[in-house]
Amino acid sequence: MAAREFFYHTLTNQNGFMSENNELIEQVRAALGKIPDPETGRGLKKQILSVENSGDAVNVSVGLTSFAAAIKDEFKAEVESTLSEQFGDSKFNVQIENFDRPPQPIGTVGLKCKAVIAIAAGKGGVGKSTAATSLAIALKRVGSSVGLLDADVYGPSIPQLTGIRGRCAAGQGEKIAPMDFDGIPLMSIGYMIPPGEAVIWRGPMLHSAITTFVRNTDWGDLDYLIIDMPPGTGDIALSLSQLLPLTGSVIVCTPQEVALIDAVKAVGMFRKVKIPVIGLIENMSSFICPDNGKSYDIFGKGGAKEYAQQDNIPYLGEIPININLRQRGDAGKMFDNFDDETIGPYLESIAKQLVTTLAKNAATNPPTPTLPVIG
Ligand code: ADP
Repeated sequence: MAAREFFYHTLTNQNGFMSENNELIEQVRAALGKIPDPETGRGLKKQILSVENSGDAVNVSVGLTSFAAAIKDEFKAEVESTLSEQFGDSKFNVQIENFDRPPQPIGTVGLKCKAVIAIAAGKGGVGKSTAATSLAIALKRVGSSVGLLDADVYGPSIPQLTGIRGRCAAGQGEKIAPMDFDGIPLMSIGYMIPPGEAVIWRGPMLHSAITTFVRNTDWGDLDYLIIDMPPGTGDIALSLSQLLPLTGSVIVCTPQEVALIDAVKAVGMFRKVKIPVIGLIENMSSFICPDNGKSYDIFGKGGAKEYAQQDNIPYLGEIPININLRQRGDAGKMFDNFDDETIGPYLESIAKQLVTTLAKNAATNPPTPTLPVIG
């Protein structure tokens, strides 16, 4: 081949390769753009950080916000399967990086938070506070920023479960600094009144206490505010919903028939005040005997799941009856549950299911950006 011919041949080949390569990269970007971001439900855009063809493989880097940290592995798997389904011939290396998207102020209180989740139950003693604290810890551990608010003004048990005692310092005209539960800002009526002092909260007083909790507390930037609601009554839910948009409620119940009746009431109450029910957790599902590993369904099993299916409520999972869980609750050592393989995986799975459900809800009904109203 003459020198001129060789030069021409190489150039066209290179150009051919380059345009094919650019085309593939564009197609990959387009495919990524159809994958919904778990937080917003909208197709990925700025979160497509880079797509490069190294020749051996296509290297894809996608950003994920801390809001969806609990489902990082599942998100990576979704990106990989979308790409391999569409571009079966190419090999992909997918990297998930942190993507920063600060929360916008919400509600009349201007709370900077992406999702406000009320944990509720039809009656006391079913493990609502245990579930709320565990969810907050599970989300925090994976990298989300989480606040925990004990709105159970009639029987605050969060100080006990977290082991955080004392009084919150009320600044003059400034916001109140919440307690610090290993990186989780924490607020409870228990930190505002002397221990053991009974308070009778009614009407306006109740509303003003709740307002103080959300408006006058320095929560910082949050992905999630987990609220431990008082059992049964709708007053607090109503007060809260006047202050900020609640993303929804999670109902905790135990498996017995009688407990389900209360759960159904709680679901009805939230629907009545137009707060979506995000999901149901069955607590005290079964007891795995530490002596012989056998499982005993002390309160029955599966009732909550069945009810959830019938009523089209996502079932977020179960928490077995576990002596260590109770002991760690009493001792204020709830973080330790996550190093315990008899209980930790159940709690982690519930947090994953919660975030998965929120992501599904966002994808089917992406929130339209609205101007925040600050009171
Ligand atoms: P609620 O907020 O519904 O009143 P709590 O979360 O305060 O209920 O739980 C009541 C008691 O039951 C606490 O002592 C807690 O440690 C215990 N408990 C909750 N869930 C479990 C469980 N799955 N296994 C063992 N003990 C539990």
